[in-house]
Amino acid sequence: MSTWFVSDLHLDPRVPEIAARFLRFLAGPARGARALYLLGDLFEAWLGDDDPEPAHRQVSTALAALARRGTLVAVMPGNRDFLLDTGFCAAAGAVLIEDPSLLEIGGERVLLSHGDGLCVDDPGYQRLRSLVRDARIRSSCAALPLGSRRRLAKQARSGSRAHLAVADPYITDVNQAAVESLLRAAGAATLIHGHTHRPAIHHFDLDGRPCTRITLGDWHHGAAVLHWVGGKYRLQPALE
Ligand code: MN
Repeated sequence: MSTWFVSDLHLDPRVPEIAARFLRFLAGPARGARALYLLGDLFEAWLGDDDPEPAHRQVSTALAALARRGTLVAVMPGNRDFLLDTGFCAAAGAVLIEDPSLLEIGGERVLLSHGDGLCVDDPGYQRLRSLVRDARIRSSCAALPLGSRRRLAKQARSGSRAHLAVADPYITDVNQAAVESLLRAAGAATLIHGHTHRPAIHHFDLDGRPCTRITLGDWHHGAAVLHWVGGKYRLQPALE
């Protein structure tokens, strides 16, 4: 039985080809899997359950079909879709999971995270992150009219683009010390995350123990997903 780890689809009604590839992935490679973990930024923006966007409904319907056939669908919100919650999960037949989450796979403890919380060399971003993760700010944001949420999401996207354009690459990558303290605290030797759009498998030693950090890719460039099959991890294109 196989397990898939996927992140950073950034599904956006203006880029329908990504959603089409994801629907092909769900109906093809993911079909019959034991589990599918969606590790953040499934949507470029998630405004709330009252957003009537039909492209988003198509995705929750396809996920629910996979779940009905017996695949565990687990959803972790990312920084773009931080308002994703139990409403979406009910429609998608999915379970909402926390960032970070600990999983046991192949007899090993594995940490799952979106990854943005590990980018601690970027204090401006971390300030923004703690704001949007604040429960009071989230509920006042969710209470705004849909039009206002749409305008805020657009402003946040252009702000993020402007920030990424000038930030040094190391600033927007995860910080190795933050990775190590997260693994150490969880007693895990493997971390799987997305967010940085730099798919790779990194090996390093931590307290004399071999550890692995696996970064998933984004779907606008190559769609590198992680497949756990036959007791091994494979970082591979979603559709081969
Ligand atoms: Mn992200």
